[in-house]
Amino acid sequence: MLKIFKPCDFHVHLREGQLLKYVLKENNKNFQKILVMPNLIKPITNKNILSKYRSFVLNNNNNNTEILFTIYLNQDCSIIDLKNMVNEKLFFAAKLYPLHATTNSSSGVKDIKKMSKYFEFLENNKIPLCLHGEHIHENDDPYEREKRFLDFELSWLVKNFKGLKITLEHITTKDSVDFVKSHKNIAATITTHHLLENTNTFLGNFLRPEIFCKPVIKSVNHQKSLLNAALSGNSKFFFGSDSAPHLKNRKFNEFCCAGVYSTKYSVSNILELFYTSKKSNNLNKFLTINGCKHYNLKFDNTLISYSRKKDFTFKKYSKFKNDSLINYNHFKNYWSKN
Ligand SMILES: [Zn+2]
Repeated sequence: MLKIFKPCDFHVHLREGQLLKYVLKENNKNFQKILVMPNLIKPITNKNILSKYRSFVLNNNNNNTEILFTIYLNQDCSIIDLKNMVNEKLFFAAKLYPLHATTNSSSGVKDIKKMSKYFEFLENNKIPLCLHGEHIHENDDPYEREKRFLDFELSWLVKNFKGLKITLEHITTKDSVDFVKSHKNIAATITTHHLLENTNTFLGNFLRPEIFCKPVIKSVNHQKSLLNAALSGNSKFFFGSDSAPHLKNRKFNEFCCAGVYSTKYSVSNILELFYTSKKSNNLNKFLTINGCKHYNLKFDNTLISYSRKKDFTFKKYSKFKNDSLINYNHFKNYWSKN
């Protein structure tokens, strides 16, 4: 048995409509706080879109999960509009996507060095900046994108905006682990699938579209670095699943879209990982404390018991309308709430 605080997921995609209702229910079961990403089909770039999205999400939030909203920061955002939203506490953090980095990022930013006025605004108003950290350039190798982002964009950002609180999202490389460790005011989220998979399990034998995501899964050496960062309890690293619900027919398709839906079993997978690595003592740090510390949030410290079921039959698919969602799971054993 393991006793932990109810976890937080500091990076999740809920999408919209019926799918949102479905996914939010799973989040309600598992998490005390969720940080919700803004890359809807029409991204959340202004107060009007945010207000509608907020009420839809909050109306469907059936328990006391704290929902932290983000705004989609790009060159179309208006500083006055941002200021109004800050005054009304409508959003918690700003998310920046490089142009064409991932699903629904066609409104992303081409040159972050032209975004200085926004970074100054965030810095002055103590709003955290969440980054999809990939440098996207024609002919650049997808495996090099994260490293190049550190060299070309992130180094510039931390040098010029020293007071800006930054979260480097879903890191996948040793380079990012080292960068985050060696700079102030920056922390990183790590996903379940980047902790548990590597290039061998992704495409070393058969190609597994269900774990195709951006940034793409890296080699075992990078994976080891992520595992060390997470398992050590280092306060700069915490859980953000990047769980993204895509329907099966969009994943097993001629053009497989990027994203892994992990919400259903992510807590179980993280518990099994820490338990089998004999690091259960650091579970609360990775799943709750570190993220809350980074974001200055209070959290519920009621302990919840989980017990381990051996050789559990996992539900590979969850039915949704005429299609289904593919549930990501890695282990044979399942940790369920008592
Ligand atoms: Zn994401």
